[in-house]
Amino acid sequence: MQTTIVCALYKFVRLDNHESLRQPLLDLMLNERVRGTLLLATEGVNGTIAGSREGVDQVLNWLRLIPNLADLDCKESVSAELPFKRSRVKLKKEIVTMGVEGIDPQNATGTYVDAEDWNALISDPEVLLIDTRNDYECEVGSFAGALNPHTESFREFPAYAEQSLDKNKHKKIAMFCTGGIRCEKSTAYLREQGFEEVYHLKGGILKYLEKVPESESLWRGECFVFDDRVTVTHRLEPGSYEQCHGCRRPITELDKQSEQYIAGAQCPKCYDEITDEQRQRFLEREKQMQLARVRGEAHIGEDAKVLLQAKRETKYKAKSNQTKSNQTRSKSLSLKCKASAMPARYRVWSV
Ligand SMILES: [Zn+2]
Repeated sequence: MQTTIVCALYKFVRLDNHESLRQPLLDLMLNERVRGTLLLATEGVNGTIAGSREGVDQVLNWLRLIPNLADLDCKESVSAELPFKRSRVKLKKEIVTMGVEGIDPQNATGTYVDAEDWNALISDPEVLLIDTRNDYECEVGSFAGALNPHTESFREFPAYAEQSLDKNKHKKIAMFCTGGIRCEKSTAYLREQGFEEVYHLKGGILKYLEKVPESESLWRGECFVFDDRVTVTHRLEPGSYEQCHGCRRPITELDKQSEQYIAGAQCPKCYDEITDEQRQRFLEREKQMQLARVRGEAHIGEDAKVLLQAKRETKYKAKSNQTKSNQTRSKSLSLKCKASAMPARYRVWSV
């Protein structure tokens, strides 16, 4: 089977026309069978996509044609299967949410540190190393000696910083996250709070795993990723964890042997958090997924439906453009205007 390329990307850049990019980008992803989610906002683009080498490249090339995104960088890994079920492009207010207004990563981020220089920085005893990811992400792997702020979501980071960090005591702070995007905001936030030396692992853990050989690595464990692979190893291959379909936390084989584990519904970490109603709903969903799997229609049906809908919309748009164009043409002719009407055109995105 062909290897699937998984590509994580983001860029903080002003995108004033982000709404108009949504449909052509989604059409391209559907045509190229590229799955995953991309978020578009006036502050930039963020997301992870997966597909064939050619498909992913088509999407990247298209994005790089947008003037401010010409140097868009990405972190790649591989997977035997497509780790996403759908193709989505969402319009958002922010491409990563920390819940603090007015943070501007384009002007105030911390100092970027390349993966190759990261070991030297975090080996400095004066440096306080903070993992800005959520607790369940830190749990399955992190850098040796990194602090886990035990946050449930990134929105809790400012409160953690206020309670636990002191600009007079913590003179050098180094932060990291999966692909680097959360640190764009967390380092900008600390800088704005008056912390002077704030460092940011450029490209995040994924870039570090790509660049630093395992024999020299200070990374311990696996790296949590937000797709069906759950985690990746140091070699950026799918890891050993599964995911609880109730709480989405990573679970081990041992968790699955627990009495509190019910496939598709709950695990030892969430069995006392979910309600009976939720449990029933999760079980029903699991049943449907299994039925779909047995029929072998799991994702194919969904894809075909979306693709058909997209084709219908494109056809409809082309037709209505043609009608408009014809109307304009007959109007021009009747007015005996010399200027010819523009032919109806719609873009074909297989460049
Ligand atoms: Zn769970």
